[in-house]
Amino acid sequence: MDFTLSAADVAVQERARKFATEVLAPRARAADEQGVFDHDVLRLFGATGLLGAQLPKDLGGSGFSHVQFALSMIELGAVDSSWRGFGTVQSALCGQMILHNASAAQRAAWLPELATGRAVFAFALTEPEAGSDVAALSTRAVADGDGWRLQGEKCWITNGGIADWIFVFATVDPALGRKGLSCFAVRGNAQGVRRERMEGIELGHRGADHARIHLDGVRVNANDLLGAQGAGFAVAMSGLEHGRLGVAAGAVGIQQGCFDACLSFARERRQFGKRIGDFQLIQKELADMHVDLESTRLLTLRAAALRDAGQPNLHEVSVAKYAACEAAVRSANAAVLMFGSRGYSSAAPVGRFLRDAKGLQIYEGTAHIQSLIIGRGLMGRDSAEQDQRK
Ligand SMILES: Cc1cc2nc3c(=O)[nH]c(=O)nc-3n(C[C@H](O)[C@H](O)[C@H](O)COP(=O)(O)OP(=O)(O)OC[C@H]3O[C@@H](n4cnc5c(N)ncnc54)[C@H](O)[C@@H]3O)c2cc1C
Repeated sequence: MDFTLSAADVAVQERARKFATEVLAPRARAADEQGVFDHDVLRLFGATGLLGAQLPKDLGGSGFSHVQFALSMIELGAVDSSWRGFGTVQSALCGQMILHNASAAQRAAWLPELATGRAVFAFALTEPEAGSDVAALSTRAVADGDGWRLQGEKCWITNGGIADWIFVFATVDPALGRKGLSCFAVRGNAQGVRRERMEGIELGHRGADHARIHLDGVRVNANDLLGAQGAGFAVAMSGLEHGRLGVAAGAVGIQQGCFDACLSFARERRQFGKRIGDFQLIQKELADMHVDLESTRLLTLRAAALRDAGQPNLHEVSVAKYAACEAAVRSANAAVLMFGSRGYSSAAPVGRFLRDAKGLQIYEGTAHIQSLIIGRGLMGRDSAEQDQRK
């Protein structure tokens, strides 16, 4: 087992760190306070090659390994979860879903646009009545000549308000459950698409775009189907397994951001005539943050390395996402306290880290759902039940 990063890994890490420190860091506070999606940052992000991530070079991608993708998401997550989230949705969730399910013509049309950020993509699964229970979704695809018409409503869709392409999951027959689901590519400006920002002030990820999308008789053609008809559940999961790795890496990044901020602060801030970091209570907090950070980084990179080795990693991705997101909330919570009154203001980043970390526990499968996947996998199938079915 070799834990050393290769020169190519370090180069990707440094490329992401440069973008995060030079472009994201100076803008992160204002983006959070003003809640505005910044198209200039998107242009600069597209120019880094980081959005091309694991996509093949002949399709405009950067040919990263999964480990390199995770390393890049850790760097972005340490500075700004809104943009780390954008990168995860665009390049991992949508990019990998296209790569593994699209026709050659669809790949050639979409992936170079996606890798440069010239087109924005969104993944529209969640509905008001179907969150964790994906099979309960009610957006309908009704046959219409050689295509379909879509009718329904999606919510909390990242990039939903700005996307050029929205992958909409809809059912041809709700009675079929998962087997009725298909994935349709819909242009963001198609007739019958109405988009609005989610209501209320969001807890975190305020520099990101999250939308409610109304679909009213939206026409989709036969060649707008991504994957086979009825294969929508598998298509969604093929994106989510990569997206969840990006979320786990983002959660490691939040911990890195918290740890770095706290270590500097504990060395600088003096009370009772000492650096606060010389108090053992503060050292215990730093030690706990450090152990969480190191252990969840290893879990995340192990899940990525398994995929690079061509092995299944569904279980390991859920373990990494669950552990890293819980640890991110713990670290950010401790960081706000360590910063004292400064942690209570947006002038310091730790409050934003805490608000963002709560989002990571919810999207791409909640913490509860990750622990269900892990527990179900550990239990395996009930052989008595299988015998009864025979
Ligand atoms: C910032 C943000 C970005 C998002 N981006 C996207 C996106 O790009 N595309 C998209 O499709 N969706 C997106 N979502 C939606 C997200 O994926 C859902 O919020 C999530 O899947 C949970 O669904 P829900 O909110 O309806 O909660 P529910 O499923 O209603 O769950 C409510 C509570 O019940 C728990 N629960 C549910 N079922 C079980 C069970 N079987 N056992 C134990 N507990 C259970 C949940 O863990 C949760 O605590 C986003 C959400 C957020 C907050």
